[in-house]
Amino acid sequence: MKRIRQPIIAVLGHVDHGKTTLLDRIRRTKVAAKEAGGITQHIGATEVPIDTVKTLAGPLIKLWKGEIKLPGLLFIDTPGHEAFTSLRARGGSLADLAVLIVDINEGFQPQTIESIEILRKNRTPFIVAANKIDRIKGWKVEEDEPFLVNIKKQDQRAVQELETKLWELIGKFYEMGFNANRFDRVQDFTRELAIVPISAKYGIGVPELLVLIAGLSQKYLEQKLKIEVEGPARGTILEVREELGLGTTIDVIIYDGTLRKDDTIVVGGKDKAIVTKIRALLKPKPLDEIRDPRFRFDQVDEVVAAAGIKIAAPGLEEALAGSPVIAARSEEEIERAKEEILSQIQSVVISTGKVGVIVKADTLGSLEALSKELGEKNIPIRKADVGNISKTDVMEALSVKEEEPKYGVILGFNVKVNEDAEEVAKAKGVPIFAGNIIYKLIEDYEAWVKEEEEKRKRELLKNVTFPGVIRLYPDERYVFRRSHPAIVGIEVVEGRIRPGVTLIKQNGQKVGVIKSIKNKNDFVQEAKKGDAVAIAIEGAIVGRHIHPGETLYVDLSKNDVIILAKQLKNELDETDIKALKMTAKVKAQQDPFWRAV
Ligand code: GDP
Repeated sequence: MKRIRQPIIAVLGHVDHGKTTLLDRIRRTKVAAKEAGGITQHIGATEVPIDTVKTLAGPLIKLWKGEIKLPGLLFIDTPGHEAFTSLRARGGSLADLAVLIVDINEGFQPQTIESIEILRKNRTPFIVAANKIDRIKGWKVEEDEPFLVNIKKQDQRAVQELETKLWELIGKFYEMGFNANRFDRVQDFTRELAIVPISAKYGIGVPELLVLIAGLSQKYLEQKLKIEVEGPARGTILEVREELGLGTTIDVIIYDGTLRKDDTIVVGGKDKAIVTKIRALLKPKPLDEIRDPRFRFDQVDEVVAAAGIKIAAPGLEEALAGSPVIAARSEEEIERAKEEILSQIQSVVISTGKVGVIVKADTLGSLEALSKELGEKNIPIRKADVGNISKTDVMEALSVKEEEPKYGVILGFNVKVNEDAEEVAKAKGVPIFAGNIIYKLIEDYEAWVKEEEEKRKRELLKNVTFPGVIRLYPDERYVFRRSHPAIVGIEVVEGRIRPGVTLIKQNGQKVGVIKSIKNKNDFVQEAKKGDAVAIAIEGAIVGRHIHPGETLYVDLSKNDVIILAKQLKNELDETDIKALKMTAKVKAQQDPFWRAV
């Protein structure tokens, strides 16, 4: 038998923009408590039955012209894009639809942008809640009132301010490629993004938000939401949790089929698929019925998607948050589920042994998202794993660092750094980039790489010798001193010279070291092609070692050539290259290595 299930909805947005407040408000909606249906608490989720949406909306249900056949809406209680990123199902997002919440007074913030990027990548439809309208000066608050009723009570100035702020938001969305509009001005919900002005704190606009979520889900997700009720269940682990008297349990959102208490389940573990028999299916007791905290749950015989449920079963200690749960009722189904889960884990949790960065994340889903993002930037990964950053990770990064410093780092999404790991990382200089905004993490890492490269280049530039070819003026008048040191007038023929470099003759013989360079009346640190300068050469005597009109070369080591050719290629101009070639010819008389330069 097929039927339409509840859409699974996630709330995303920047910190402090009101995600938790909105979810709390939905859970405690006053009208709902009194009227038909009410709100049902699931594990990790809250269900708003469709009758409650209808009661809340009153005549506003007409906002949505078609009939709504959904049984209700299932909101995931954990807000934030981290949670959204973590919650995956069969390669896509577990959430069918999202509410992006933006504080109307603050506008777009980093996590707002990150949320939009994630939604776009996942192709998750979303609605915008422009929150905290009650903060607009002079706004009149009426709890749980529909926005379209509430707005009529506001004076002109407040309405005007709201419009201005909405326009600013619309402009920001436009910059990101979205046509957004206030929900009651939207002509076509497939092309335009609907913005519902709300106050999560007072419940204003929440009725419209719920109606629109229901309507949009009905209209655009109907096919996706059609499930075979009798089929074996599929879900995603929200959390692995130790419970008093129950051992390790998993909190799961079931998005397909029916889970029965005598089912076998296959779940993703660290590097294996765990096959286990369900001991109990648990749902939370209504709050007012909890008398003993040890008995916070009621047992049920089965749950039908979509639902949030706690599963108690043996062997769940190794279960991985974010990984799939598949129910199986025969050996064959178990085998198939194992294969599917293993291939999913193996595609995400990897250890390549390659030279690359170490990636850690809180769940399989966020690990997948972060790894994918790094892949798109061509940043190689040595290891991607779920869990906190450990000392082992630091040691592994350290071994990478020895081979390629820029990859000897750890990127952690929504994870902690163990104390001993932090100590070792500090001591050994292994950078750890940790945070809960993927693009920020990667941006910080890239900025660090750039800075390190510049630092390294500056270091190299300081120590490397550049090629240079000079010619002494033929006229004796430009010999200012014959020895200790010799001072002569020269022209730089190709390349450059600096104090400290050694000069050699056409036949490769050493002449002496340039002590100083004087251009007109000033001592300078460098002379380039075309410059006419006087140089002091320590160790050479004019007339014995060098003669007016002679060509001399800056002596280079093999190491210099290798660094110049490999790491400082962009620093060499045409004349440097000419000088290098001329010097190589001189050096090749003694060492065949130079023939290849
Ligand atoms: P989250 O970090 O996105 O979950 O944000 P919270 O829900 O924790 O809200 C952050 C702060 O904003 C809290 O102090 C809330 O009371 C406040 N807040 C949230 N929604 C509203 C609202 O609609 N109006 C007002 N005035 N304050 C709000």
